[in-house]
Parts: sequence; C-alpha cells; structure tokens
Amino acid sequence: ALPARLFFEAVEQSSMAISITDAKANILYANPAFTRVTGYEASEVMGENESLLSDRRTPSLVYETLWGRLRQLKPWTGVLVNRRKDGSRYLAELSIAPVLDAQGHLTHYLGMHRDVTEMH
Ligand code: FAD
Repeated sequence: ALPARLFFEAVEQSSMAISITDAKANILYANPAFTRVTGYEASEVMGENESLLSDRRTPSLVYETLWGRLRQLKPWTGVLVNRRKDGSRYLAELSIAPVLDAQGHLTHYLGMHRDVTEMH
C-alpha cells in the first residue's frame, strides 16, 4: 500500500489549489497552491467557509447547481468568479467531489481549482 505520507506530499505539491472542507464547506486544509492562487495562507482560512472566495459576479444559479449536485453526493465541475485576499478577481475552474465514509455518508468535500483567467 502507498504510505499516507506520499498522499500528503502529492497533495501538498500539486499545482492545483486543493482544499478539504467539512460538510458545510468550512475549510480544514488548504495546500500551498491554494495560497498561491488565492493569496490566503492556510492558517488564515482554517475554519472559514469557502464562500470567502465568492464574488457577486458569479450568478447564484451557479452555486445552486453546485449544491444541487453535491446534495446528490455527485461531483460538480464548473467555472466561477473568485476573489483573492487582495480583492482582485479571477476565473476559477473548480471541481468539487464529495468524500464519503465506509457507510456511504458524506463527511467532507474535496475542492480543486485553478486560475483560468488567461484562457478566456
Ligand atoms: P451560500 O450561503 O453558500 O448559498 C448559495 C446556495 O447554495 C444557496 O442556494 C444555498 O441554499 C446553497 N447551499 C449553501 N451551503 C449549502 C450546504 N451546505 N448544503 C446544501 N446547500 C447549500 N465558492 C466559491 O465562490 N468559490 C470557490 O472556490 C468555492 N470552493 C468550494 C470548495 C468546496 C470544497 C466547497 C464544498 C464549496 C466551495 N464553494 C466555493 C461554495 C461555497 O461554499 C459557497 O456555497 C459559495 O461561495 C456561495 O456562497 P454564498 O455565501 O454566496 O451563498
């Protein structure tokens, strides 16, 4: 079996901004790429909701669709407008996947995003 350390290092060194949240989207972990993309240190976002990245330019339908999928325990991928710590905006291509326990109950979410501003 692969050691847990390797899983941790792979996530830490990923170029995707990766975060793990509780069932209410409160952040429990954020990797160094998350800090590079958003400007927030992991220690600053600990316990904060992912909505701290949200920008009013994102239509609320996007969030409703996202949560509609997650409520069905299905992953969602889409593009939305995010706001960095310094207030600047970027287009984020975001994938969120539910994390289930052995009984199939939702325990966490895995979020992965990257800045795709240059591509649009
Ligand atoms: P919210 O108060 O969150 O509400 C928006 C809509 O979603 C409402 O219809 C509400 O009923 C529904 N909703 C909210 N929370 C829940 C819930 N726990 N269960 C069911 N329905 C719910 N948002 C971003 O803008 N940028 C990101 O990069 C981002 N990354 C995320 C990563 C992960 C892993 C997760 C789980 C969520 C992420 N979100 C992200 C979504 C974020 O948590 C907010 O829902 C979103 O930012 C909208 O915030 P809001 O305060 O405007 O609205």
